Amino acid sequence: MKYFFANWKMYLTAAESRSAARSLAGFSLPEGIRAAVFPNTLAFSAAADELGGSYWQLGAQNVDSTPQGAYTGATSALMFKEAGAVYALVGHSERRHIFGETDEAAHNKTQACLDAGLIPVVCVGESESDRKEDKRQYRLKKQLFQVFTGLNLPSGAALVAYEPVWAIGSGEPCAPADADDVAGWIKLELSQSFGLTAAVLYGGSVTPDNVAGYLEREAIDGVLSGSASTRPDSVAAMLAAVEGSG
Ligand code: PEP
Repeated sequence: MKYFFANWKMYLTAAESRSAARSLAGFSLPEGIRAAVFPNTLAFSAAADELGGSYWQLGAQNVDSTPQGAYTGATSALMFKEAGAVYALVGHSERRHIFGETDEAAHNKTQACLDAGLIPVVCVGESESDRKEDKRQYRLKKQLFQVFTGLNLPSGAALVAYEPVWAIGSGEPCAPADADDVAGWIKLELSQSFGLTAAVLYGGSVTPDNVAGYLEREAIDGVLSGSASTRPDSVAAMLAAVEGSG
């Protein structure tokens, strides 16, 4: 089983999300694919209306770490759960780099997801300067340890997305063989250090032309697609590429 996750970020309005979700609901998924859409918070219910009864699941792009209270502008994991979310992205590089989210915040949000019954998708990835300075493993290990230390979670309760920052939205994806090595290394780290088994997805400039190359890899359990997933024709092309390669 492989995951196909679509992160719509802040690309689509609620009306556009509804229309895109309606198209997606009509697509048949290739065998063995579990798919989910991560709409903008304000578009979440519109997408949920359209995807209800289809094979598509839903996820939150961002949750607050507290369940309820005086937190102006925030939306809790519990609220997303109530609205129909199954997953939540945690520690996405745009949250880290644009909104200053720390590893500690990612840890707290992961815990909040687990408490609310959501499956956290913990995003980790090295920056361009980490890459130049050969610090990839150092950065990933730091992110993984700060998120997973002190969490009491069973195997399979969380997913990890390996998303090199330099590959996100850049049109310069990480080569499938390289991403596969990293996914294997992440699994080993999680198993040796935390006794955890977790599926690892790859994200960063995934397109219809390269998606199959990731999903056919042994250690890569799925893809997290951003901008390419916001157009139904492109989602259809990605699913067709996966179908054709299976
Ligand atoms: C993402 O934001 O998670 C992502 C992978 O974006 P893109 O596919 O646009 O690189």
